[in-house]
Amino acid sequence: MKVDRNLQLKKFDPQIAELIKKETNRQREGLVMIPSENYASEAVLQAMGTSLSNKYSEGYPKKRYYSGNEFIDEIEQLCIDRSKELFEAEHANVQPHSGSSANMQVFMACLNPGDKVMGMDLSQGGHLTHGSPVNFSGQIYNFIPYGVDKETELIDMDVVRKIAIKEKPKMIVTGATAYPREFDFKAFAKIAQEIDAYLLADISHFVGLCLAGVHQKPFPHADVVTTTTHKTMRGPRSAIILCKKEDRYQKKYHKDSKFNLARRIDRAVFPGTQGGPLDHIIAAKAVMLKEAMQPEFLEYQKQIQKNAQVLADTLRETGIRLVSDGTDNHLLLLDLRPIKVTGSDASDALEEAYIYANKNSIPFDNASPFNPSGLRLGTPALTSRGMKEHEMVQIGSWISKIVKDPKNKSLIKKTRERVLELTKQFPVYETLDL
Ligand SMILES: *Cc1c(COP(=O)(O)O)cnc(C)c1O
Repeated sequence: MKVDRNLQLKKFDPQIAELIKKETNRQREGLVMIPSENYASEAVLQAMGTSLSNKYSEGYPKKRYYSGNEFIDEIEQLCIDRSKELFEAEHANVQPHSGSSANMQVFMACLNPGDKVMGMDLSQGGHLTHGSPVNFSGQIYNFIPYGVDKETELIDMDVVRKIAIKEKPKMIVTGATAYPREFDFKAFAKIAQEIDAYLLADISHFVGLCLAGVHQKPFPHADVVTTTTHKTMRGPRSAIILCKKEDRYQKKYHKDSKFNLARRIDRAVFPGTQGGPLDHIIAAKAVMLKEAMQPEFLEYQKQIQKNAQVLADTLRETGIRLVSDGTDNHLLLLDLRPIKVTGSDASDALEEAYIYANKNSIPFDNASPFNPSGLRLGTPALTSRGMKEHEMVQIGSWISKIVKDPKNKSLIKKTRERVLELTKQFPVYETLDL
């Protein structure tokens, strides 16, 4: 019997169906400028809503603890093979549920509790899992933070080296969630090797730019790479770990283990920290990887960066100060202190105009993380809709006006109308409906 899945949901649970419809419409009508968000393709969404979600497949392809994994094995193997090919990696684990889990698994595979690790300070752009004291990372491991230079607002590699040589961490974590500039993986690797530290490149945010070659690629410099799959990769909410097979410090740090780096990563994922993999999500990741192998994907990534630069130029020209005075990647960090507006007021006013951005701490922010002095903006989702330089100029000028005058209700209303007109011209999820 042929069943219309959407119809079933609407019939059985109209309340949830209606809310899903409203959320889809919100994503259609608004300007999604939260840099960690994007629109997964309908093919990716389709793979997620399938019978694969019913299966248990603890273990790895051909080494499962459950029967009936003939097709799941093929799906996961395809996902692994595509990951290795795309990222030029010796080994891939596609089971991590999320970016945070992936980082946890890498730490578990390489470190012991209490070991020293260097990571970018959360308040300067790093991720929670890079050693924040409220996170497992900061509680289990001894994180030594590095940050940006107060004047240039860039990472100063001489300072990173000084801290590394003084502290001798066993691992250095690179990558961030709110750093608008490029990470010099090569320079980080040189420092890491000087002190026999592992280098983890967490490329969750700018992964797509790495693939397109508009950001330095993490391999061969990093020992391990983690990435989320739902940000610039435009896949399902999830993550992938990529690594070298052999551990360059096996004799020094893991001489009692009979497992190499790749095996230790796999064991840290399962059974170390996870049970059954999300097979429907792994299938969706495989679809995402196939999309990322198409030439259009590289064009898309390059456009994300171009759009971010035009947006940065536009905001700067209207007198908005940008942290580090610009961007190399897909995101911008606005310093609202000179215009005496808080991050919350700016983000609330923009939300009313259907422009979604997020309040964010800026380096050396004196304000609280709940109401910080910055605003983080990104271009991946708008670029997915086909928006280009022309639209960025337009949107930049709307944002500038609103953040300078966040209580101006008539300006907000007028802008919302123009946002609705604009988003109608760049439709998303046209065939996706409930
Ligand atoms: C988003 C992000 C993560 C965590 O991803 P989740 O899937 O939200 O757990 C980890 N590291 C960095 C740098 C990120 O930007």
